[in-house]
Amino acid sequence: MRGAREGGCACGAVRYRLTSEPMFTHCCHCLNCQRQTGSAFVINLLIEADRVELLAGEPQPVPVPRDDGSEQVIYRCPTCQVAVFSEYTRPEVRFVRAGTLDQPSSITPDVHIFTRSKLPWVTLPDSVPAFEVYYDSKVLWPAESLERLAATRPTAARS
Ligand SMILES: [Zn+2]
Ligand SMILES: [Zn+2]
Repeated sequence: MRGAREGGCACGAVRYRLTSEPMFTHCCHCLNCQRQTGSAFVINLLIEADRVELLAGEPQPVPVPRDDGSEQVIYRCPTCQVAVFSEYTRPEVRFVRAGTLDQPSSITPDVHIFTRSKLPWVTLPDSVPAFEVYYDSKVLWPAESLERLAATRPTAARS
């Protein structure tokens, strides 16, 4: 592990620590992320929920409608309402918002997704894969990360 990654909300009530590196890092340019952040894109660290250790506070789950009719749960500081992570279909994987890290510059995206709605003045580096919509994680993720993802699945496999 390359040094602990810690972060939190604006008021300091919520503090978290990632106990390992993320499995993969998305830079998402979709309309949902643009609306939720009020900005051009979101940077999400995909990591097992049990590797997000809460040091202070209890982020509050807020269900948020998405354009496709589904729902995403965004966890916010109960006091200042800053969003620290979210949950899509699988609660065992957290999408931690990299902008809430103490050192956001320590993260670079592994992939750019939903570039079909990327703001035209955002220029992406040629060195990072980019997709109009989504991608195949089996192709793009390192083997070690795929193993970690598979290890989060025992409950889903039984159902
Ligand atoms: Zn706060
Ligand atoms: Zn998105």
